[in-house]
Amino acid sequence: RPAIVWFRRDLRLADHPALHAAAALGRPVIPLLIDETGGAEAESDGGAARWWRHHAVAALAAALERRGLTLLLRRGAAAAVLDEVIATTGADCVLWNRRYTPAGVATDRAVKAALAARGIEARSFKANLLFEPWEIATQSGGPFRVFTPFWRACRAAPLPERPLPEPADLRPCPDQPAGERLDSWGWLPTAPDWAGGLRAAWSPGEEGARDRLAAFLDRGLAGYAEGRDLPGRAVTSRLSPHLAWGEISPRALFHAVRDAMPAGADADKFLAELGWREFCAHLLFSQPDLATQPLRGAFAAFPWRDDPAELAAWQRGRTGYPLVDAGMRELWETGWMHNRVRMVTASFLVKDLLLPWTAGAAWFADTLVDADPASNPASWQWVAGCGADAAPFFRIFNPALQGEKFDPAGAYVRRWCPELAGLPDRWLHRPWAAPAAVLRQAGLRLGQTYPAPIVEHDAARRRALAAMEKCHGEA
Ligand code: FAD
Repeated sequence: RPAIVWFRRDLRLADHPALHAAAALGRPVIPLLIDETGGAEAESDGGAARWWRHHAVAALAAALERRGLTLLLRRGAAAAVLDEVIATTGADCVLWNRRYTPAGVATDRAVKAALAARGIEARSFKANLLFEPWEIATQSGGPFRVFTPFWRACRAAPLPERPLPEPADLRPCPDQPAGERLDSWGWLPTAPDWAGGLRAAWSPGEEGARDRLAAFLDRGLAGYAEGRDLPGRAVTSRLSPHLAWGEISPRALFHAVRDAMPAGADADKFLAELGWREFCAHLLFSQPDLATQPLRGAFAAFPWRDDPAELAAWQRGRTGYPLVDAGMRELWETGWMHNRVRMVTASFLVKDLLLPWTAGAAWFADTLVDADPASNPASWQWVAGCGADAAPFFRIFNPALQGEKFDPAGAYVRRWCPELAGLPDRWLHRPWAAPAAVLRQAGLRLGQTYPAPIVEHDAARRRALAAMEKCHGEA
């Protein structure tokens, strides 16, 4: 009797414990992918994530095809789809890799119980994190709220196991029913087709992930600790969307980095960034309302503003602050933004504009190809000062100084805001302060060819601090 392998955000063949276990059973395998409707994961995917998912699923289907298997595509509620596939194929075993979002956990628990009640074996595996959220606990047995002790506890735990190879032998199921067509699911934009920048920037799929990793080990890892904060240099791995869609497993990445560089600041720093990914998942698992509720209660009373015009200026990279605008344009064009710039743009929205972090997180969720239900809200809460282990609210980034520090030669700003390219470095991050003759020479007319600042940073900073004080006063 066949075994069903239910693929979710683990769109790969290598180091896929559920697939590996199915192959080891020696039975025919039905690889199944469900576009879940009615409550679970897929509903929350934004436009850029759907674009990625389409191509990642297509790549997985092609890889399975080369091994003689057909990825069965079905849309519906997970339990109903599984029931139907079991009924038509006689499968008596369903295997999957675990997920950790509140909706995903609830669905999986219910499915497992329903299958068990009918005598169908359901087995789940660890595949998408280095450590299960419940494996790492404080001394009193609870979840961590602060990153440094969390990561220390992770590093003291037994090393993640080595990744599994791709199963050598996969047997197809002769009576597998026909599935739906990926193209019919409408995950790609049509009119307008806004995905040209995404296509130019990325190769979704397991092979694309492997190529990125090879390039990173070759050119990014040595010097990562120092270079990772400079958005003008392509130092970081850009593996985040591949990790988010499970095209590479975190333990494969962990071991590849350790093998390439057994010790040293660069490897430590990179592994700690993987640690942040683990920490965010750990937070979401213990705080299911992470995406909507501030972890620090005092922020529930924060006097956020509501200003659709300023929100739109931020979204489209028209704030008049070059580093902020460059970041928001990179995001819109490629579906990704450098981490340093994510922090600066997020801080600008929340502190300079006093617009709610949930509005920023919603925009990121819709436009990021790596949009992650744990890392996105956790990072926004961190920047806003209301999260676990957050930067204190009163530490407010000055966007011009951040630009001068992290993009000193202006490579990043000149790339994404070409209308500023003619400005000398000295004025690039603060065009409003440049003498008229300099602006003229650079061909720049503030307010026409590039926006004047939509807020004045020092005044905005004072306004933010006053709002914070009011909120704490009421808490
Ligand atoms: P590298 O520097 O090469 O790091 C390797 C991997 O570690 C990344 O691919 C990622 O999986 C993980 N990682 C690195 N930094 C972080 C971090 N600070 N928090 C969590 N994981 C991290 N990351 C997402 O994957 N999805 C999101 O939706 C997301 N939203 C964010 C929102 C805000 C406001 C901020 C400030 C950060 C957010 N991040 C998010 C974290 C981080 O910016 C990205 O993971 C990183 O920029 C990805 O680039 P990279 O793959 O080149 O990273």
